[in-house]
Amino acid sequence: MKRLYEFVGPDRLRPDATAGIPRYRLHPKARAPDLLSELEIRDLGMTELTLTYIVDQRGMVWVAERHVEHIACARGEPVLAAGELTVDLSVKEFEILAATNQSTGYCPEPECWHALAEALDAAGLDRPDGFEYAFRFGRCRKCRSITVIKEDDFSCAECGSELDPLRQ
Ligand SMILES: [Zn+2]
Repeated sequence: MKRLYEFVGPDRLRPDATAGIPRYRLHPKARAPDLLSELEIRDLGMTELTLTYIVDQRGMVWVAERHVEHIACARGEPVLAAGELTVDLSVKEFEILAATNQSTGYCPEPECWHALAEALDAAGLDRPDGFEYAFRFGRCRKCRSITVIKEDDFSCAECGSELDPLRQ
C-alpha cells in the first residue's frame, strides 16, 4: 500500500515551496539536453548526474538539481517518494542508474521504493530493482533536528542527543 508523506523538515525551508525553483518531469519523451536546460545545469559533458527527486500524488516523478530541497521539487505538496536519483545522460533515452530515499525533508520509508518504481515504469525509464541505499530517519529529542540513522547509531548529528525513530 502506498503512503503519502508530508513535509517534516524545518520551517525555514517552507518558502522554497513557492520560490519557483526549476524542476523537470520525467516522462517517456524526456531527453538529457532538455533536462539540463530546464534545470539550468551547465552541460559539462558529464555522463552521470545525481538529482533530487520526488514522486507526486499523481505518480509523476519530478527532478531538480541535487542541492535543491525536496520541498521545492514538490512545490510543498505531500509525496509518495523522495530522495536522490543518479541518471545516465550518455544514452539518448536516459536511464536510472541508482536511487535512494534520502530526504530529511520528507523522511520517506524504504517501502516508498514501490511508488518510485511504478512511477519510473510509467515514465518508460529503465531502472534498478531497488534502492541502492535505503535510509531510516530519526528526530532529536532535544533540538528536534532530523538525522539519518546510520546502522544502529541513534545520536543526533547536530547535538549528539538521542534520536526517536520517525515513521515507526
Ligand atoms: Zn539534536
